Amino acid sequence: MAGGATLLVCGAPNQTPISASRYHRTMRTPLMAGNWKMFKTPAETTEFFEKFVPLVAKADHAEIAICPPFINIPAAVAGAKGSKVTIGGQNCYWVNKEGAFTGEVNAPMLKAAGCTWVIIGHSERRQFFGETDATVFQRTTAALEAGIKPIVCVGELLAERESGQTNEVLKTQFMGGIAPLTPEQFAQVVIAYEPVWAIGTGKVATPEIAQDAHRVIRSLAGEKFGAEAAAAVLILYGGSVKPDNVAGLMAQPDIDGALVGGASLKPEDFAGVVNFQ
Ligand code: PEP
Repeated sequence: MAGGATLLVCGAPNQTPISASRYHRTMRTPLMAGNWKMFKTPAETTEFFEKFVPLVAKADHAEIAICPPFINIPAAVAGAKGSKVTIGGQNCYWVNKEGAFTGEVNAPMLKAAGCTWVIIGHSERRQFFGETDATVFQRTTAALEAGIKPIVCVGELLAERESGQTNEVLKTQFMGGIAPLTPEQFAQVVIAYEPVWAIGTGKVATPEIAQDAHRVIRSLAGEKFGAEAAAAVLILYGGSVKPDNVAGLMAQPDIDGALVGGASLKPEDFAGVVNFQ
């Protein structure tokens, strides 16, 4: 993996080269996270881990996480025991005190079940379950208060990209969901850039398109939290990442890992993503 700032593609005079990064990556350990969405039973989870864990036993270059459906978390935690694979939830409620909230799971419950991470604000939550930047912020702070690290998702729709609004959308999502955090809270957060048009469609963003968006997000982090915090925050790319396209993405200076849906369901495929180098 290339470290530090790299100028790969130059634009017209006076334009920022699209792969330019002001922030060196030396202090960032990549994270490869699998989002299983609503797939697999507990028995299938156990079977996955039996095959997956040996395939990533030598992967010292990255942190590895699997985020299964809630019901599979105990099987995942048991399957990952003794390995470097960590486990996360796919959502959490914003109230950390137990109570009458039928159907919800909160961050202290995830913590007690053995989770390290929780995905917040995935585009499927935003599209189908009414997630907003305000609730993303609420869930993120609740997760942090419970000692769970949030992976906060942002990303534009196809129509927003085609109408030139990508940077504006990223800014709005960042300002609403992430910017209100304290600097101490921000230091615990991972951001995932997931262009909605690339999720589950097989249409991966080119490394240059992804890098451009990551650079924008890191700049927003720099404006709000300062250069050191921006240089330290992990920004994952998500959207049709596969073993055969991950290396090109990871070669970009502001891409620090991947949030992987479909390709995280098969042990060999997700191991191929994790072992990208
Ligand atoms: C996701 O679910 O976050 C995702 C990126 O899915 P896929 O890899 O299948 O596009």
